[in-house]
Amino acid sequence: MGKKGEAPAIGIDLGTTYSCVAVWQNNRVEIIPNEQGNRTTPSCVAFTYTERFIGDAARNQVAMNPANTVYDAKRLIGRRFNDATVQGYMKVWPFKIIEGESGKPMVVVTYKGDEKLFAAEEISSMLLSKMKEVANAYLNTDVKSAVITVPAYFDDLQRQATKDAAQAAGLNVLRLLNEPSAAAIAYGIDKKATLRGKTNFLIFDLGGGTFDVSLITINKGRHKVIAVDGDTHLGGEDFDNRMVEHFVSKFNRMYNKDITNKTQSGRKALGRLRVASERAKRILSSAVFTSIEVDCLYDRVDFSSKIFRAKFEELNMDIFDKCMETVKKCLRYAKWEKSMVDEVVLVGGSTRIPKVQQMLQDFFDGKDLCKAINPDEAVAYGAAVLAAKMSGKGNRMVKNLMCSDVVPLSLGWESYGEVMCVVIPKNTPIPVTMKMNCVTTDDNQYSILFKVFQGERSRSTDNIFLGEFVLNNLPIAPRGVAEATICFDIDDDGILKVFAEESTTGNRNGITITHSKQRISKEDTQRMLKDSKRYKDKDEEHTKKVDAYTSLDNYVYIMDIKLKDERIRKRLSGEDLTEMDDVVKKAKKWLDINEIAETNVIADKKKELHWVWSMCESVMGQFT
Ligand code: AMP
Repeated sequence: MGKKGEAPAIGIDLGTTYSCVAVWQNNRVEIIPNEQGNRTTPSCVAFTYTERFIGDAARNQVAMNPANTVYDAKRLIGRRFNDATVQGYMKVWPFKIIEGESGKPMVVVTYKGDEKLFAAEEISSMLLSKMKEVANAYLNTDVKSAVITVPAYFDDLQRQATKDAAQAAGLNVLRLLNEPSAAAIAYGIDKKATLRGKTNFLIFDLGGGTFDVSLITINKGRHKVIAVDGDTHLGGEDFDNRMVEHFVSKFNRMYNKDITNKTQSGRKALGRLRVASERAKRILSSAVFTSIEVDCLYDRVDFSSKIFRAKFEELNMDIFDKCMETVKKCLRYAKWEKSMVDEVVLVGGSTRIPKVQQMLQDFFDGKDLCKAINPDEAVAYGAAVLAAKMSGKGNRMVKNLMCSDVVPLSLGWESYGEVMCVVIPKNTPIPVTMKMNCVTTDDNQYSILFKVFQGERSRSTDNIFLGEFVLNNLPIAPRGVAEATICFDIDDDGILKVFAEESTTGNRNGITITHSKQRISKEDTQRMLKDSKRYKDKDEEHTKKVDAYTSLDNYVYIMDIKLKDERIRKRLSGEDLTEMDDVVKKAKKWLDINEIAETNVIADKKKELHWVWSMCESVMGQFT
């Protein structure tokens, strides 16, 4: 709880392309402008021969100093050098990345004439220091604490690295808040939904390089993320690229000069064309046409060209369509009809594009979109509200606020036959504790090995392995009798604890899965969700196989028990007895070597045994 006179806690949206800082003051949220008077600051750090620039100053010199101007640190943070995302972006980033110690990607720049290496955390820490300075200057105090937002899909490692960056910037992190939750909080407070009954939000977040759709419910101040989907490689930069491509080919047609030739002057020309295109794109959100003018673009040729909004829309139509598909997919995940959405919230600078707004509004049958809060400020706005609540400030609505997020992929353990037993299904709100009972699969089984996985596939080994532990000292009992309860517990910060307990002895063991390497990134999550659909048939076949095998195994097990019963043995002739013992022996052997047999083969085997056993029963009479 905050004390009187203490510096207020701030909310920081640490964005991929822009960052924003806000504070709760004078009974409302105030977005804090930087020294240039801008309400958002480019997430950009530049190194020169004489100094280091952060924010607008860094971005303003990018065309002249591309190799030493670092942006997109959020795409690097918490990832390894050989991560596919890092490798992919390395092809387009003008700055250099090398593999550092233990596989960490390091940015290489020349600073004050020397080569320097920086980890993504260090770049993010510089950005956070800058946002802290902006707040300090505005509030005339030394800010100590902040709520910092992260994408909903950020894994433990990425969250932990963001926390480390904040600590290095001298900020105590009150909470890492998911970006869509922050936007919902902003509108929840704005529309007083925190006091009303249930309100369903769709958060459409189209920023500079990422796109996220989230469905969130606010029920009497309690926030619940129902579903999230999106694309980590889609955003304003794609629209810029399309415009650059358009102007490059126009320049080529007009002057027969190709600036994509990868020479140094070509690269510089592309950089300047990109800056001009981005500016033109923003203008096209309010004007129906604009022009770009770049002096001495290439080979001392000046370039100027007009572009109409309609042309911009035509160049990007397939991307807009893709965004709408994601909206539909997210609604399907949540099993929501579009009519169930009460508020459609726009977040991210690219939602200013009129075509995006129109398509969204048309899809929601003309519904008014929530635009009251600037789309590039809504996330910081929500973070500031939560910062106020967590430091004991704010009005009644702020104090009533509660927040919960969801599990992005199902969590479970591996049962017999590599079957994924889901304990916490995907999209379950956190914090959460869920339990499941399990039994031994062998007679007198002394221990159970619990392997924990995350993913949507029904075969455990197709999912991500998170960790394992053993529960020992189980009571001596036939299979299926000794019972243990496995419990999955996820706290507010998304940290997973798994433990198992044997009920009669109270014997217990477990693991905590914190920022393990195995917890997965958003790309992995998206890939796995796609895979899970693609492999659904294969998975079902595997499940059927395991079911058939288990059923046969149980059948043989029961035959074996019955044949050991003296009362049954007495009813069978010596010849029949030998034959039955032999049948069971052979069946056990068959089971040992046919674990991966096809379902129909297992079913045939069971039929065969059933036939022999029925014959046997007809001789000795039904015996149960
Ligand atoms: P964000 O990361 O949410 O700050 O979004 C930044 C992205 O929004 C960048 O790609 C900007 O070019 C884009 N953007 C900002 N303002 C506008 C605008 N008026 N029209 C179109 N795109 C914009």
